[in-house]
Amino acid sequence: YRAKRTGGGVAEFDPAAAALQPGRVSLETDLYHALERNELELHYQPLFRAGTRELLGAEALCRWRHPRLGMIPPAEFIPLAENSGLILPIGAWVLNEACRQLAQWHVQHPQLQVGVNLSPRQFWNPHLVQSVREALERHALPGSCVVLEITESVLMNVPDAEVTLRRLRDLGVRLSLDDFGTGYSSLSYLNRFPLTALKIDRSFLNGVTGDLSGTPEKVIQAVMLLAHALDLQVTTEGIETSEQAAFIEEVGGDILQGYLLGRPVPAEQFWLPD
Ligand code: C2E
Ligand code: MG
Ligand code: MG
Ligand code: MG
Repeated sequence: YRAKRTGGGVAEFDPAAAALQPGRVSLETDLYHALERNELELHYQPLFRAGTRELLGAEALCRWRHPRLGMIPPAEFIPLAENSGLILPIGAWVLNEACRQLAQWHVQHPQLQVGVNLSPRQFWNPHLVQSVREALERHALPGSCVVLEITESVLMNVPDAEVTLRRLRDLGVRLSLDDFGTGYSSLSYLNRFPLTALKIDRSFLNGVTGDLSGTPEKVIQAVMLLAHALDLQVTTEGIETSEQAAFIEEVGGDILQGYLLGRPVPAEQFWLPD
């Protein structure tokens, strides 16, 4: 197992990572039962409008409260779910649970949106569009309240991704391209798909201090120009310092997300304005 997380510096024991090696099969079995045993939960990280810092909504992020290993982060169990096919029932649960929670908030805060991460594997499910429609209907939510976060590999590898994404857009849901800049997609792909937003991966924030002549700053400015030229909103994730937030606002970012403004928390702890 990995004694150190790259870049982390401090050595910390990671029971989840340790469990993945010798007990991979048993962790997979545990994951199989996690849904029925109610061990999965969603945490919500706030999203704010740049400039006004008004609350726009939240990204729903999945957590697994393992009875013996404690809280397992998605980086450990989502790949396992993807390889085993469990991502389909888990993805359906996430979508429904995020809609259920948003519907509660929606009563007093109808402007709030929820971001839901979709695995590329979910696009191989012919019932994806139908299950999104059903989740919206079940919770009486307008499609515009839900932002589906997809990755570049959906655009690149899923047959007929364009058709599926159009059908999702027809439901009114928004489509955000997550982890932008970490994949291999050609930029010319971007305008072929009915995307509404692009999320700059937090790795792009590394080294951003707000010095406009710095290289990471220039890269971000270029991405902003590209996205806005294609009529895409830009969300910047991983904002950890006030300098970074001010820089993103200065160069025209639309939506801010990061530990500086709020960490992912259980729904009961999520801050809502009065
Ligand atoms: P993502 O969709 O890019 O989500 C953003 C990740 O960055 C989250 O990690 C969030 O906690 C983290 N983050 C946000 N702001 C900061 C910051 O300022 N500093 C730092 N260091 N981190 C920040 P998390 O919750 O561990 O999720 C990791 C990834 O797991 C997600 O990346 C997403 O790809 C995947 N994931 C999470 N929930 C789901 C889910 O329900 N379904 C699917 N398919 N994937 C999920
Ligand atoms: Mg995401
Ligand atoms: Mg992201
Ligand atoms: Mg990311």
